Amino acid sequence: MNQAWKNSSTALVAIQSLKDLDINWIEQPVIADDIDAMAYIKTKTDIPLMMDEGLKGAREMREIIHKRAADKVNIKLMKCGGIYPAVKLAHQAEMAGIECQIGSMVESSVGSAAGYHVAF
Ligand SMILES: [Mg+2]
Repeated sequence: MNQAWKNSSTALVAIQSLKDLDINWIEQPVIADDIDAMAYIKTKTDIPLMMDEGLKGAREMREIIHKRAADKVNIKLMKCGGIYPAVKLAHQAEMAGIECQIGSMVESSVGSAAGYHVAF
């Protein structure tokens, strides 16, 4: 959703309307900095939630884990600082039982190659 539903109220109304569509997960339904809203929504739906824009680095990952705010995270090298920080985020996620994917911000082929290497 790329933050399109803004807050937990509008997100929950939208999620309720989608509940019969066998959705695999919902990505970042609320504004990036509202990790509390993600945690709240997660208590109200069985559809897995993915944090994307709200994950910038290790500080946010610690908060996501502590608050159980996401089932999945999207790690972007251009946001977290490169290969090494991305690997650390992936390790944090794995230790907390959170699935992760390596995303991109439509960077160059060189930037994408770095992401591929982290993923592999
Ligand atoms: Mg996004």
